[in-house]
Amino acid sequence: MLISEVASILSAEFINPSHDFEVDTLVYDSRKASNSTRELFIALPGTHHNGHDYIPSLYQLGIRSFLISKRINPGDYPEAAFLLVSDTLVALQNLATYHRKQFDLPVVGITGSNGKTIVKEWLATILEQQWNVVKSPKSYNSQLGVPMSVWNLEKTHQVAVFEAGVSRTGEMEALERIIQPTLGIFTNIGNAHASGFESPEAKIAEKALLFAHCEKLICRLDHTSIVRQLGNLKATLITWGISQPEASINIVPSGSYFNFHYQGQQSTFSIPFSNPFDLENIFHTITAALVLGESNTHIQQAVNKLKPVPMRLELKRGNNNTHILDDSYNNDFMGLSIALDYLRQQPQKQRKTVILSDMLQSGKDPKVLYSGINALLEKHSIDHLIGIGPDIVQNQAAFSMPFEGYLSTHDFLRSAPAFTNETILVKGARDFELERVVHFLEEKNHGTILEVNYEAITHNLKVYRQQLKPQVKLMVMVKAFAYGVGVEEIAHLLQYHKVDYLGVAYLDEAVTLRRKGITLPIMIMNVDWSSFDLLETFHLEPEIYSLSMLRYFLEVTDNPPPVHLKIETGMNRLGFRSEDLDALMTILHQNPQLKVSGIFTHFSSSDAADEDDFTRKQAATFNQAYEKLAEALGYSPIKHALNSAGIMRWPAFQFDMVRLGIGLYGFDSSGTTNQLKSISTLKTKISQIKPVKEGDSIGYSRMGRADREGSIAIIAIGYADGYSRLFGNGNAYVMVNGQKAPTIGNICMDMTMIDVTGLDAREGDEVIIFGAQPNIRELAQWAQTIPYEILTNVSQRVKRVFVSE
Ligand SMILES: *Cc1c(COP(=O)(O)O)cnc(C)c1O
Repeated sequence: MLISEVASILSAEFINPSHDFEVDTLVYDSRKASNSTRELFIALPGTHHNGHDYIPSLYQLGIRSFLISKRINPGDYPEAAFLLVSDTLVALQNLATYHRKQFDLPVVGITGSNGKTIVKEWLATILEQQWNVVKSPKSYNSQLGVPMSVWNLEKTHQVAVFEAGVSRTGEMEALERIIQPTLGIFTNIGNAHASGFESPEAKIAEKALLFAHCEKLICRLDHTSIVRQLGNLKATLITWGISQPEASINIVPSGSYFNFHYQGQQSTFSIPFSNPFDLENIFHTITAALVLGESNTHIQQAVNKLKPVPMRLELKRGNNNTHILDDSYNNDFMGLSIALDYLRQQPQKQRKTVILSDMLQSGKDPKVLYSGINALLEKHSIDHLIGIGPDIVQNQAAFSMPFEGYLSTHDFLRSAPAFTNETILVKGARDFELERVVHFLEEKNHGTILEVNYEAITHNLKVYRQQLKPQVKLMVMVKAFAYGVGVEEIAHLLQYHKVDYLGVAYLDEAVTLRRKGITLPIMIMNVDWSSFDLLETFHLEPEIYSLSMLRYFLEVTDNPPPVHLKIETGMNRLGFRSEDLDALMTILHQNPQLKVSGIFTHFSSSDAADEDDFTRKQAATFNQAYEKLAEALGYSPIKHALNSAGIMRWPAFQFDMVRLGIGLYGFDSSGTTNQLKSISTLKTKISQIKPVKEGDSIGYSRMGRADREGSIAIIAIGYADGYSRLFGNGNAYVMVNGQKAPTIGNICMDMTMIDVTGLDAREGDEVIIFGAQPNIRELAQWAQTIPYEILTNVSQRVKRVFVSE
């Protein structure tokens, strides 16, 4: 579409109309922009990053078309076209609405409290067998996500599946206009009180607005308040129920099968799930497929392949210094694009390889499909492509980067190619079983992993950012392997999210980060005096905490790097005391070559209400010291004091920067928010199950005793993995298949015994050590310590897997 057309659709003011570019890609995240003139950048105002701030750098990069709401000086951008509107988000929505109107096809719109994304993914998997389907990427269902999804509609698509989510009254109308669904699915309604709505009824009424112009609507008969609301709409209501003949579709279980009775016909399906949530989602999905006229055979074939957790990207360490990005469960064009964006977010290694299977997508000319893929791979600077499958091999001429082809996964594994120092994206259709490729490439582990959820970390980061006043900078503490989580990956994530500083305890931690490509400023709290020269080499900023340290530092560095002065105000750890300040000022005076980038202190009790007077006293002492030093320096270094608990409890002391630690990793030690998400799950496996008789002793020193006939399981974790001996002898429980199992006997170095008498447990089953349940807080209580110690104790031999949903 030409920019001039966009201008007339949006009634926008066209600045620089002599540059009328053809655009086809919309970008609102500056980090995802490339140098293509076909991209239209939409400058959205955000709470912390305003899209308009990135225009100069994007122009440098090569972006030439911008949708803006703040007037710019066109003289600064002689080659670019600008469209000026009053609200860029509304303009984006209007553009998507216009785009949607160009197509006449069945469009499924999904809303509800839970299950939207999974029903969308599953339904698309069924429909993809026969049709060319477009769907919302990931869970793009917001005011921004919906227009971005609908923009992907193309002429070749035959059916669309989009999801829509709202958080307050008044939002759905716009989403309805953009999606214009013809068939609706209302999954369910949560009973949690939602602050954006007056009442549960208001919440249902708002969501139901998505279906204002639908022809048909699907919901579950048991959700009576939804049925009542939907009854007011024009659309034909299709309800389903389990053994409920009064439902439009009566689903009758029969052994491991389910018979669907619909319009006088019976269809029988075998379903690979049993928990009620999965069942509700699959019943919505199958109902929609039947209503759309899909054949029973197609439905059953697709259902056999479904997994309860779709769309999971996992980052793992591989052999020979590689990182594996595992996305081996589905393969479509949008999904590839998302995975490639993610690869950019984790630039672990310079060299990037993609292992890609055939894209089993009907309806698209293979030439067009594979040249589109090539363009995408080129845009992301992929160095090397490995294709698996007859189609991709046959179309290898479409690729401009070095290509290696294999007709099957088996062929690939048999030739066992080697990889070194690269990041490898593995992406394939389920039929190709590329999980075998991932298994071949990944670092072997002994069954114990710490699974870390990227979205949860990003969410927690956002929670803290929302606490910050404008202009307050954010340092994130990544000391001790990022609180035990995995420093390299966390640092890359933080760099991607543009935090201002990283903080570490020791020099080697900082040097590792630099070697792994981290360019953010880094403060080091406790540098060994013998290594000051390395600070310059790696552009690192030390904490200076005493007069003798400062003197020595100035003596041995020719070109001293900027420093942070630590002021002692009551913690009685490192820091200059009030008595030192005059001497300190003199030294600063005599050494104008020394740049002080920060002055800081640390509160001993920012989380404790009964010590608030002490915290105020610390802040007052700090203020005085800062004033003195800033005056002596003649400029104002970054002033910082707060840790995570302080950010929540002491907005008045945010100063110029805060230092976030444990909060990012999911714990609010201040007790003021319940918005944080738990970010990590420590998991292991059952190695063996053993029957025991009453009176048998278990483990070292015979500390465990079977008090009845039963069975124990031996699990692959011990104190060398960070599972403290304090957890032994029933002081802790773990979860096996959703059931609590207490420890029995002493914890060993590499193994632990648990009591699984009467539980559903088999050898090889997964065991949760901590996560949602039991959580780290519970473990901390059992071991009479704090969550910090539980987290940082997980030893480095435990493999970290980073998951993105
Ligand atoms: C570790 C640390 C922090 C972060 O503390 P949390 O309680 O984890 O938020 C902040 N400042 C300094 C100086 C630290 O050592």
